[in-house]
Amino acid sequence: MTGPLVEIRQLSHSFGTHKALDEIALNVEPGSYTVLLGPSGSGKTTLLSILGGFLAPQEGRVFIRGEDCTATPPARRPTATVFQDYALFPHLSVGDNVGFGLRMRGVGRSRRNAKVRETLAMVGLADAYSKKPHQLSGGQRQRVALARALVVEPAVLLLDEPLGALDLKLRRQMQDELKALQKRVGTAFIHVTHDQEEAMALADHCVVMNQGRIEDQGPPERVYSRPASRFTATFMGESTLLTGKVQDLGMDEISVATEVGPVAISASGEPGFDVTLAIRPEHITLVDVPPSVALGEAKVTDVVFQGSFKRLLAVSDKNPEVTFIVKVPSNRPVSVGDTVELFCPAADMILMSR
Ligand code: ATP
Repeated sequence: MTGPLVEIRQLSHSFGTHKALDEIALNVEPGSYTVLLGPSGSGKTTLLSILGGFLAPQEGRVFIRGEDCTATPPARRPTATVFQDYALFPHLSVGDNVGFGLRMRGVGRSRRNAKVRETLAMVGLADAYSKKPHQLSGGQRQRVALARALVVEPAVLLLDEPLGALDLKLRRQMQDELKALQKRVGTAFIHVTHDQEEAMALADHCVVMNQGRIEDQGPPERVYSRPASRFTATFMGESTLLTGKVQDLGMDEISVATEVGPVAISASGEPGFDVTLAIRPEHITLVDVPPSVALGEAKVTDVVFQGSFKRLLAVSDKNPEVTFIVKVPSNRPVSVGDTVELFCPAADMILMSR
């Protein structure tokens, strides 16, 4: 097959007067792990429901394997969905739960059993065939739900907050398992979450959503290191934002007159243009390592020990409206009330036009 596996064209959908999706355009490549990341209400579930055929969009089209599936009902499109609450049948055994979709498709008993056993083994539940869902742990139930969706060999697996019901430790463990499973089976996964760490851990392609629109999309490393918008810079990880006007210094150097003074960086830009600079917490240092930009003195107002590092909040002496978010090594002695001098390597300043 050439071209994208899934192509979403100009999708818009409103509930009453509320625009839940606003001109969404997105391609999903075969074999990829796509994560839809965004805050509550950003439209992730609405988009997934349209992909699964549970909701017909008011505008736009969905193509899967080049075929227009916009009006195809869920059972007849090459998708399967894993819901957050798993939606397992409590009275059926694990084997019958997993085999349900195959039975609906008229697959005979012996072939069905073989497929079910193979898929249960793939998710590490070879011994659970005869158990009932209530005899399993949360993580195991989650794997049954995955097996049930994968057994019908969908072209695209849709996962709506699949790890949302698990505690944090199990959640991180299941992330590793999910990623490994996806690479093993090679099916394209589209996974909805509001957890940015989960998105970074899983995605080949990360789609950041806000208010029904796509703010940014790309490999998570790029989205983190060069976010396209202020929203992305603060939602996908934390950032300190500075705003100001560009002054051209020539030789591909500009100075931005920010709230905490002029900041010179290597970039080109229109003089007088309003820009935002984003700085990641791990890029701010308390020592000057040239070539770096001096951000001035700041008073530490909060110190939180987080194991491998300390997270500080420090209010700028030059402008009390600016609070720097800083990560320092956990052995660095620093306390609330200290005055620190802050620096950032010029190359790590992220320049954004909005
Ligand atoms: P969450 O992470 O909370 O599930 P989400 O990003 O998945 O959020 P959606 O569930 O897609 O967001 O909802 C997008 C917007 O559409 C929200 O403002 C929501 O209130 C609204 N909405 C969703 N479904 C309906 C519905 N059936 N009727 C009315 N409004 C809806």
